[in-house]
Amino acid sequence: MDSNCIFCKIINKEIPSKVVYEDSDFLAMLDIAPATKGHVLIVPKEHAETLSDLSDDKASKILVLAKKIIVAMQKVHNFTDYNIIQNNGRIAGQSVNHFHLHLIPRYSVDEVGLWVPHEDDPSVTEELAAKVRNLV
Ligand code: 5GP
Ligand code: ZN
Repeated sequence: MDSNCIFCKIINKEIPSKVVYEDSDFLAMLDIAPATKGHVLIVPKEHAETLSDLSDDKASKILVLAKKIIVAMQKVHNFTDYNIIQNNGRIAGQSVNHFHLHLIPRYSVDEVGLWVPHEDDPSVTEELAAKVRNLV
């Protein structure tokens, strides 16, 4: 628990939220400023800022939970397509420094933009791929 963290306060019930799922490890709630109708955030109860800080235990459980919640959301909000998005750090668009996964329903007309694809970059060589490979 980080006393300055808004998501820790929500988990601690000091701030209200519209909960769609809760267990001893996670809370999932409606986003207060949704990208699209039904947008949900899954928040691990342990305070970790980014994926790199999150425990392997929570990291390995969260996608299974995302799948369960998405299936329920699809029945309620009548969508088939969705994005799972997770921002790490300011430059990447993270505004709340407590790890969370965005579950974003997609509709035929919506305003979600992700990235613009670029030409392949020849300076990112097989050698660099091998360097990463050797560190994983
Ligand atoms: P980020 O930009 O860090 O990836 O996403 C943070 C998300 O948290 C945003 O989509 C924002 O709307 C949501 N958010 C921020 N404060 C609150 C809050 O007090 N309650 C809820 N339910 N969502 C919040
Ligand atoms: Zn926190």
